[in-house]
Amino acid sequence: MRILAVVWDIDDTIFDHSGAERRAALEYLTARGLLGRYASPEEAAAHWHAVSEEYVDRYLAGEFTFVAQRRERARVLARRPLTDAEADVWMAGYLAAYRRHWRVFPDVVPALDALAPRRRHGLLSNNSAPHQEEKLRAIGVHDRFEALVCSEELGVAKPAAGAFHAACASLGLPPERVAYVGDRPDTDAAGADAAGLTGIWLDRGASPPAAGDPPAGVRRITSPGQLAALLDTLDT
Ligand SMILES: [Mg+2]
Repeated sequence: MRILAVVWDIDDTIFDHSGAERRAALEYLTARGLLGRYASPEEAAAHWHAVSEEYVDRYLAGEFTFVAQRRERARVLARRPLTDAEADVWMAGYLAAYRRHWRVFPDVVPALDALAPRRRHGLLSNNSAPHQEEKLRAIGVHDRFEALVCSEELGVAKPAAGAFHAACASLGLPPERVAYVGDRPDTDAAGADAAGLTGIWLDRGASPPAAGDPPAGVRRITSPGQLAALLDTLDT
């Protein structure tokens, strides 16, 4: 068997981050009396998402620590100056709402069942390990994975090869024995391919590549349920 393990992305791959973010943002903006500043709930949710993406990208680029990017996001989304303590309180209110909306995508556990016991499973996320551990336990899938590697502790983020190699090392396997599955065709699938793994883009229909087409050669599935059959074809 060529592929011995699958390493999974977490956010928007096994965990419905975008759905939780959207529901929590609308709930929180409504509670804070801020929703009326937007033309529509769709515009509010899109703005929240864009600001979140921007600040997470700037954190990943090393401009902010994880905590500092949260504070800056709070100031932008609250549309007023906030001290660090005020920003922490403001963001904590949103995060409480976000947590209430956490859920695993319903197609993930059946896919893990279909892959067991032939493939081992690990996780690699551009996030912080304590945050992701809490999330995985809350949505009931923590014990389905042998290892979790996160960029915050590692000091290297996807798509850098070092991040993928650390995830392989956490399972004690060389990259050519590992497939990586994620919702981003570039950061996840193409990045994994470049690092010597088998990159697979899980296209949930929400993450179009910037150029309009997936990177050349990227393998694409539209549900984790298609993974077992794809890995079988790669084994032969
Ligand atoms: Mg993701």
